[in-house]
Amino acid sequence: MIEIPARRGKAARLLQGQSVKIVNTYGQQVVDTWAFNLAEIGEFMSMEHTRIAIGRIIPVIGDALVTNRRRSILRLVEDTSGGIHDTLIAACDRWRYELLGCATYHDNCSDNLAAALHEFGLVPPETPSPLNLFMNIPIVDGNRIDVLPPVSTPGSFVTLRAEMDCLVAFSACPQDMVPINGAAMMPTAAHFEIIG
Ligand SMILES: [Zn+2]
Repeated sequence: MIEIPARRGKAARLLQGQSVKIVNTYGQQVVDTWAFNLAEIGEFMSMEHTRIAIGRIIPVIGDALVTNRRRSILRLVEDTSGGIHDTLIAACDRWRYELLGCATYHDNCSDNLAAALHEFGLVPPETPSPLNLFMNIPIVDGNRIDVLPPVSTPGSFVTLRAEMDCLVAFSACPQDMVPINGAAMMPTAAHFEIIG
């Protein structure tokens, strides 16, 4: 198991046919997830393109997640977390925390993505909207959105299989100003494992 340290990011190469199992070790941690085509970083997993490809806003087991060029990059093959994830919300960034009233620098998923890719000598072309694993953003009355703690439990996990060679990146979201990482608002580590 590879640790995604609390409030930090981590990336890994994932070859076509390999899978990555993302474990919500302590149960209440949102894990922002990205995938970039290993051969061309300008092609990356896109939630906007995925939602129309799967006809829903939350992928279910068997669904392919597609790129901004509408090609399958990852497939959701296992999910023991309760099936609640988010595809709507942008990664947190310094401006999100400034708007919440944070006067000093706050760790954030956008910078975590950049730092994780930097370890591979890469610069993300932008911060794509992430697949926010375990994030609980219910739609209320068909339009309004709510921001709730995850329904996942300690040790529950999601497995994603690579449909092309890619670089996957994760951020253990450092959000501690709204209860997106649990009612205690205490970000924790999560873990992942490459299989195959
Ligand atoms: Zn975040």
